[in-house]
Amino acid sequence: MSGFRATGRPARIAVVGAGIAGLSCARALVELGVRVRVFERESCPGGRVATRRIEALCFDHGVQYFTTQDLRFEAVVHQWHADGIVAPWRGRTMVLAGRGQGEQVAAAPRFVGVPTMEAVAVYLARGLDLRLGNAVAQLRRQAAGWTLHDDSGAALDEAGFDRVVLAMPSASALPLLADLSTLAERVATVAWDPCWAAMLSLSRPSGIDFDAAFVSDDPILGWIARESSKPSRAPLRGAAESWVLHAHPTWSRAYLNMEEADASRWMQRAFAARRGGPLSPSARGPTHGGRPDVSRAWFLDGSLVTDELPFSGRPAIKSPYR
Ligand SMILES: Cc1cc2nc3c(=O)[nH]c(=O)nc-3n(C[C@H](O)[C@H](O)[C@H](O)COP(=O)(O)OP(=O)(O)OC[C@H]3O[C@@H](n4cnc5c(N)ncnc54)[C@H](O)[C@@H]3O)c2cc1C
Repeated sequence: MSGFRATGRPARIAVVGAGIAGLSCARALVELGVRVRVFERESCPGGRVATRRIEALCFDHGVQYFTTQDLRFEAVVHQWHADGIVAPWRGRTMVLAGRGQGEQVAAAPRFVGVPTMEAVAVYLARGLDLRLGNAVAQLRRQAAGWTLHDDSGAALDEAGFDRVVLAMPSASALPLLADLSTLAERVATVAWDPCWAAMLSLSRPSGIDFDAAFVSDDPILGWIARESSKPSRAPLRGAAESWVLHAHPTWSRAYLNMEEADASRWMQRAFAARRGGPLSPSARGPTHGGRPDVSRAWFLDGSLVTDELPFSGRPAIKSPYR
């Protein structure tokens, strides 16, 4: 694709969504000489590549790690590693499945952002024309191109764009596709799993002898990871360990509307049971509602569950992060 239109002026493209997909897309377009503006509704880039700060503690509550399964991506990650943006995570990872319990030896190195996952998004965002806090509520097609509007109908950019890239979960994209019925119909078929994530900090070691686990024999938990086993995580003030817990999609779906504090309590209890006993009474975490012993839960939009995307020529997505 040339970055220039027949008129000779560089093409203008709007990318909506500054998650890992939108940022990578924007960088690739800029390298082709295209003028790109990225619109992001949140106050920081990254989307589900997220780091949450609670009382000076940092938790990567979304993406846990990534692997490279493509030579082109391997080269990119090699560069990130050289630039100090990512490091391999050698945490001992288990599969917990009823009586069957075993270590899962990774086929390829598992990388994490350092000092937090967010570093990857910040690195990808550098130098881009990024408009944070700009939620796009509507796309309008004009003779000269596309304009983007907020929920009051105000244009987010008067000049307009030749093309618009929607780099966001399909549920968020759907309202923007109101005038594009064929595309909207296809986007509506993409299925997602919701995910409750809980962040827990302990003042005493848990005694758990592994760092992470895929859990398939628990009604609540689906993944647990000792956040503090990841590289370059700063020592946590007054805390021995911190953990991120992800709930199973079925549980997350069943309790979609649960209060955060309740989801957090249920997940913490399930974690304590998994550990084989209650957490230390002095277990403390980011406080929630004044309680000293409760972790914080967060709800994430979800993971793609559709095996084959309904767009021809696209790769199949399977088990996104195993
Ligand atoms: C709990 C959980 C754990 C996961 N763990 C892993 C893992 O360990 N390894 C792995 O490889 N993958 C993992 N995934 C999958 C991974 O998170 C996604 O594949 C990837 O982050 C998706 O990136 P994205 O840019 O497509 O979307 P997103 O990260 O969702 O980014 C979309 C962006 O668009 C913005 N946006 C949405 N609507 C609008 C709007 N109207 N206007 C402006 N901005 C908008 C959002 O704020 C967001 O920043 C996990 C997913 C979940 C939910």
